[in-house]
Amino acid sequence: MTKKHALLAILTVLILFIFAGCSSSTQGESEASTSEKQPILVQGPMPIEAEEFAERLDDVEEEKSGNFVFYIGTVDDYPVIVAKTGKGMENTAAATTLAIEKYDPIAIINQGTSGGHDPELNVYDIVLGERVTNIGALKTDDRDEGEGIEPTDWIPMDLMASEGSAGEDPDAENIRYYDGDKDLLEAAQAVKGSHEEGKVVEGTIGSADLWNNEVDRINWFHENYETSVEEMEGAAGAQMADAYDVPYLGIRILSNNKTNDGEYDPDTAQANQEYVYEVVREYISSMTK
Ligand code: SAH
Repeated sequence: MTKKHALLAILTVLILFIFAGCSSSTQGESEASTSEKQPILVQGPMPIEAEEFAERLDDVEEEKSGNFVFYIGTVDDYPVIVAKTGKGMENTAAATTLAIEKYDPIAIINQGTSGGHDPELNVYDIVLGERVTNIGALKTDDRDEGEGIEPTDWIPMDLMASEGSAGEDPDAENIRYYDGDKDLLEAAQAVKGSHEEGKVVEGTIGSADLWNNEVDRINWFHENYETSVEEMEGAAGAQMADAYDVPYLGIRILSNNKTNDGEYDPDTAQANQEYVYEVVREYISSMTK
């Protein structure tokens, strides 16, 4: 028994050594192969939300990590990486962190489709995420058995308020908004005119692993969180970008809007990438000025 333990311990140490060796050598390699310019990272969740942009890259190479696909190329001779992140908050947080660690991006644009919360916005309109917030982080009211479920009494829960219990901490009962980066926003505003299928407005993007089809609930978020649109990724990417202090902006086209009977149109995904391509070009030219 003890012999077996000793053997196990030696094996574990050996494996740790091998791993430490491996990770330091891969880090060295990626450092050596990275060009001096930090890339711009453009994220899209679904194939229809990423591949259109990836096809526009020059000198593109594909790298995979887990479920994530990174298309590494250039736009106007500047390094740009398109990441197909998969849908939802977890995929996005992981893909964002991985990309930051691997590629050290100078800025991140998270883009794709969304559902309207604002009846003034139509399918094909685009929202620039002046703010993005997690609309799935909620604390319910106190209710005993038999007292029912009252979603409109739920309050926001800010998991980043402290390292202590979010359930007990009154400071955590606030909405956390992540501000979109000013320079990215400026670049996006400068090319508003390139999007002809709809208008481009500044607004608040709400994210959660949830598709809301209840108009009263959508209106509730619109009133209480001032959301313009909902999607399933933006706040997760923003949280990671904030943790590493990387400039970040969400750019979301409406593919549907329950509040004004806007039917789902998947072609909006392509229109958004065409617009974001112009934003990236503008951002590159503003950086090199
Ligand atoms: N109807 C699509 C669903 C896609 S899943 C289909 O069946 O293929 C949801 C993806 O679209 C997520 O990446 C999310 O960011 C985005 N999205 C678009 N409209 C949304 C909405 N109303 N609510 C939540 N996510 C939405």
